[in-house]
Amino acid sequence: MKKIYFAALLLFCLATPAAQAFEVFACEPEWGSLVHELAGDAVQVNVGTSALQDVHVIEAKPSLIAKVRRADLVVCSGADLEIGWLPQLIRQAGNPKVASGPGYFLASDQITTLEKPTSLDRSEGDIHPQGNPHFQLDPYRVLAIAKALDARLAQLDPAHAADYTKRLEDFSARWQASIKGWEAKAAPLKGRKVVVHHLSWIYLLNWLGIEQIGALEPKPGVPPTSGHLASLVELTKNAHALAILRAAYQDPKPGDWLAEQTGVPAVTLPFTVGGDDKSKDLFGLFDSTIDKLLAVAK
Ligand SMILES: [Zn+2]
Repeated sequence: MKKIYFAALLLFCLATPAAQAFEVFACEPEWGSLVHELAGDAVQVNVGTSALQDVHVIEAKPSLIAKVRRADLVVCSGADLEIGWLPQLIRQAGNPKVASGPGYFLASDQITTLEKPTSLDRSEGDIHPQGNPHFQLDPYRVLAIAKALDARLAQLDPAHAADYTKRLEDFSARWQASIKGWEAKAAPLKGRKVVVHHLSWIYLLNWLGIEQIGALEPKPGVPPTSGHLASLVELTKNAHALAILRAAYQDPKPGDWLAEQTGVPAVTLPFTVGGDDKSKDLFGLFDSTIDKLLAVAK
């Protein structure tokens, strides 16, 4: 009798599909990596973009829509960074869990952004009324986002709330120790000057005390004029700039051109997780970024 009971139970278990794993859709690799730090293998993370893509302009492909449709939580930078594609993904996915409310997590809502425009003049380029959305290279903002994201995971997946708390404590301890190490290591960079390709480095530069003196693309999304480039050559030369910074996904030509004109090295930084071999996670991303800046500071 007992045997039959167990056989029936076994059949019942086999016939009932296993509970679906909690799924997260992350717009950018840095947030995918952060979810992994906070949730480990308890959740499945699908990352919508890679370090070699320009996240300002992503195509709302069916494969991405399918991932948003399955998601229990969407995690994105926000501050209008994904305005050209995320609303479309959400609309087409038709998944009410992530369309609004707790399942829709924007990192920008958890922090203050820099460079909020005082006027919304379109002649200023593709400006973001909510401020500069490229804040993933400020480790303090990353930590604030981690805390809010952890609370959100615990809220949506209460069965694992204790695990999330424990993993956040562990991540915070390792992250804060790393910040101290990065700050000590990057001390020689303080006061140095850089030219940037796109306006995507201000959080990193402010953190490390580096001064941004100019940009190849002075207005986001607007190609530079020849007059602007000529004045940039003079500026870069006269300032004895440390480097011309660009992200892994950006066209190297403008930076290489300026480097040729000025003798100041163009440096490709990973910008996010996966942007180079060393940037396998958030820790590697910061390690690599600082090492690459120090390499040209010598
Ligand atoms: Zn941008």
